[in-house]
Amino acid sequence: DSEITRDVVIIGAGAAGLTAANELKKAGLSVAVLEARDRVGGRLWTDVVDGAMLEIGGQWVSPDQEALKETLEELGLETYSRYREGDSVYINADGELTRFTGEIFPVPPETEKEMVRLIEKLDEMVAEIDPDAPWAHPDAEALDRISFEAWLEEQTDDQEVRDNIALFIAGAMLTKPAYAFSALQALLMAASAGSFSHLVDADYILDERVVGGLQQVPLLLAERLTEDIFLGHPVHTVETTDDGVSVISDGGMTVHARYVILAHAPILYPWIDFNPPLPRLKQQLHQHISMGFVIKVHAVYDRPFWREQGLSGTAFSPYEISHEAYDNTNFGDERGTLVGFVSDRNADDLFRVSAEERKTRILESLSHYYGPEALKPIVYFESDWGAEEWTRGAYAASFDLGGLYRYGADLRTPVGRIHFACSDMAGAGYQHVDGAIRMGRFVAASIIEEARA
Ligand code: FAD
Repeated sequence: DSEITRDVVIIGAGAAGLTAANELKKAGLSVAVLEARDRVGGRLWTDVVDGAMLEIGGQWVSPDQEALKETLEELGLETYSRYREGDSVYINADGELTRFTGEIFPVPPETEKEMVRLIEKLDEMVAEIDPDAPWAHPDAEALDRISFEAWLEEQTDDQEVRDNIALFIAGAMLTKPAYAFSALQALLMAASAGSFSHLVDADYILDERVVGGLQQVPLLLAERLTEDIFLGHPVHTVETTDDGVSVISDGGMTVHARYVILAHAPILYPWIDFNPPLPRLKQQLHQHISMGFVIKVHAVYDRPFWREQGLSGTAFSPYEISHEAYDNTNFGDERGTLVGFVSDRNADDLFRVSAEERKTRILESLSHYYGPEALKPIVYFESDWGAEEWTRGAYAASFDLGGLYRYGADLRTPVGRIHFACSDMAGAGYQHVDGAIRMGRFVAASIIEEARA
């Protein structure tokens, strides 16, 4: 067992925790980062599986993600564009495949008109939402009382419009069914990415990747903190007194500090023993957020065969098990990689069957987009974040119906010496690496100011 003393102890070596640690260190404060896993990065994890480099967690960078872009530049990391030449494909409710280019799915003209109308309406509403304070919007309470699905039903009778508009937020972002979160939560998701149109535009939202993998961000940030990072130390107790905090890990380490930052998914707070306990409203708040659930599927082939058919690899269908899929070929790789996503209820269903059947059904879904060659990858892997004890879902956490208006404003508020930072509580960059970095900076700045006062 060991005991150390620092100015600030940080729980979690993800993008948020490591950003905060670096900012604090730059300001002359001493830090210790306690990480439960035996690696840094949290939901960023680049690994080699059966000879293929895979982005098991987050990977894409979009133009609005300024904090991430600054960090990439500062760390000297190179980016490259996602492959997007050729036609995208869309499958409708009858299972009919249509090739298309541009953003709007190839749907009947009336349906297209309705989709465009709703996207414009959502853009207008999103423009009025401050991603840092969606609860402050004059209609926030009303918008938080209605599920996104019910809100869409009020807007249009066209089922295909509803299915597609829901997809951009539900399956593709919050990874929860559209009846499980509010219209306000949906607007926050879009506002955090700049507009609803940005979510519709895959070329925008999934613009670039990092050569060598996005986990290099936490790995390089961690290199600057080597003496200060302690892997394999899940924190189980946070004790606070008037004078400071003591944080105790399963690895038998105690860190005494002036401040503590909880830099992990907020759904994990209840697994920590706080002494004294957190205030009652925080306890309530933490019961109204939950993780989304998505399987990220990686299928590697000897070559990107779909390109030979003039396909970009971009594929969408609210009616397919894999509701979206992309060309995810690594930079400079001869092999071709497809990445598909299986979200919320589809993910539940597929985790109720055997691994073999799951694989068969997922590859079958990919073959609907790309043809029979998709059935025979040389490497196949499912990112299974629901089974990860220190994450418990993907991509991130969101409020249940009514929770955002009721408790959202309190999510980031510190409790005395206890501060909170995570992508799951960001405004801009919410649920993304960019938001994690922004929250890391924000919490570090607050502590630096407090420490100097
Ligand atoms: P985390 O990365 O979760 O880090 C928290 C850390 O705390 C973890 O290392 C965890 O082990 C540790 N921890 C937890 N509890 C304890 C404890 N008690 N004691 C000690 N340590 C603890 N974002 C994008 O921008 N682009 C993408 O393309 C993208 N795709 C994604 C795909 C997947 C499959 C997933 C899962 C996420 C994706 N994201 C993406 C989201 C992005 O990865 C996350 O929002 C971001 O990495 C979260 O960073 P964080 O530091 O806030 O939290």
